[in-house]
Amino acid sequence: MEEKEKTPGQLRREALLDDRKNGYDRLSVEDEAAMKVYCEAYKHYLDAGKTEREVVDETVRLAQAKGFVPFTRGMAIKPGDKLYRVNRGKAIMLAVIGEKSMGDGVSIGAAHIDSPRLDLKPQPIYEEAGMAYLKTHYYGGIRKYQWVTIPLELHGVIVKADGSTVKVAIGAGEGDPLFTIDDLLPHLAAKQSQEPLGSAIKGEKLNILVGSRPFKDDEGSDRVKLAILDILNQKYGIVEADFLSAELEAVPAYKATDIGFDRSLIGAYGQDDRVCGFACLQALLDTEHPTHTAVCMLADKEEVGSTGVSGMKGAAFDTFMSDLCDAQRVPLKTCYEHSFCLSADVCAAFDPAFAEVYDKRNVAQINYGMGFCKYTGSRGKSGASDAGAEVVGFVRRTMDAAGVVWQMTELGAVDAGGGGTVAVYMAERDIDTLDAGVPVLSMHAPFEVTSKLDCYMTYKGMKAVYQAK
Ligand code: MN
Ligand code: MN
Repeated sequence: MEEKEKTPGQLRREALLDDRKNGYDRLSVEDEAAMKVYCEAYKHYLDAGKTEREVVDETVRLAQAKGFVPFTRGMAIKPGDKLYRVNRGKAIMLAVIGEKSMGDGVSIGAAHIDSPRLDLKPQPIYEEAGMAYLKTHYYGGIRKYQWVTIPLELHGVIVKADGSTVKVAIGAGEGDPLFTIDDLLPHLAAKQSQEPLGSAIKGEKLNILVGSRPFKDDEGSDRVKLAILDILNQKYGIVEADFLSAELEAVPAYKATDIGFDRSLIGAYGQDDRVCGFACLQALLDTEHPTHTAVCMLADKEEVGSTGVSGMKGAAFDTFMSDLCDAQRVPLKTCYEHSFCLSADVCAAFDPAFAEVYDKRNVAQINYGMGFCKYTGSRGKSGASDAGAEVVGFVRRTMDAAGVVWQMTELGAVDAGGGGTVAVYMAERDIDTLDAGVPVLSMHAPFEVTSKLDCYMTYKGMKAVYQAK
């Protein structure tokens, strides 16, 4: 059949209009196969790392399997070398040394591996009404009502009086007990139900139920608490005072799982921002002999402002980078001013149930690929790292050349709220930085949802940055 000639209007449409297409309408057979393999590995990574410390451990395991070795100060480096450095067990930096000098700049993928959760207080355990509880102080921006009546696991470390450290991961193993926070029955919730969503569940009510059986041969008070401490003592060799020097995190007891009849989505806890952390990591593990040195930064403490010794504002990243620069006798500032960073963090996916908080013409859509965010911030871009047009232009060319499905996005409608991530701290180091990441539904909830296509395309986009000439 003869092909019908296009009208002048059709031709001008094709030439001029930005025609966004669903990623599935642009997905190659090779990408589809690679996406499947990638998403299985990603789900495994999520299950292996429920806390920043566990993510670091799993990252080290994966990196070592690919030939990465610890990088120490003064070590000689050569192109192709694969190096990593752990910061206090809670953050990790990895690099593959490029053919070009560090002075020509490096390609950085920076994500964070801490996620919102409930931290135990330093003196957490108490008994009330014949039940034992652990008091918590929430970490990061949680919506408190989402954390009651769900199964919880307990992960972390306890440093005992003698200085030895015990690792705890209760709930992760087959047959382990779980924990939970109770909520009011609807029959008696008449008053609570009238309260605004944000204050109906108070922070001091987020106490975790951990037992109810009293110690057998004892006539004193708090026999349930005593019995719990007895169990912990037998299992971990700890006493009550050891909680003082512990970091224990209650996290949702959900395994990463496929969502939907078509299995096109992934549901899991902690996808913000392990979804981008894994993309940066896997892209680096798959990068051999890059032109520019490729760096993967997995930071801690983003959810509380990137503060502290393991956060992106801390000096550990600069120390790692300057140790690498010293090995090539290059000033750190020369390296930074020629470097590029993708600040890889999740963005909000358009949710039709809450359409009013988004600008539907400037929001990330599920299955439309890796989301790039020129700026974040709130109330007139306040606090944003607003990437320059040239930087966005570079990324555009890089993504299109690599066949990455990507989209441009804003967090939400103007003045609907706001947010930010590590981009600003990279930019303040004199590094050109652009926000990028995977669109998420129910961000910060105990169970977040992403699309497999978007997860995979973020990996592919990150790899394109690492392999840029
Ligand atoms: Mn994040
Ligand atoms: Mn977050």
